[in-house]
Amino acid sequence: MAKRINPDLCAQCGACITECPNEAISESDISTVIDPNLCTECAGIAGGPQCVAVCPTDAIEDDPDHPA
Ligand code: SF4
Ligand code: SF4
Repeated sequence: MAKRINPDLCAQCGACITECPNEAISESDISTVIDPNLCTECAGIAGGPQCVAVCPTDAIEDDPDHPA
């Protein structure tokens, strides 16, 4: 399952953008956004989803619309 960013919680700090190994995260008008076609949930990377680990506002959650 891909991750998604809750725009109500995102502070647009940009921390997740540089952490993503797949360049799946980009800026948009109201929050950063994750491309579900690029997000692998950081499979195989120690520590799991890197974006979730660095997000200061817990804005990143599972995206049930994009199961693996
Ligand atoms: S879970 Fe991993 S691959 Fe998916 S957006 Fe976050 S950092 Fe990128
Ligand atoms: S790390 Fe969290 S608060 Fe910062 S841009 Fe990414 S989703 Fe938004």
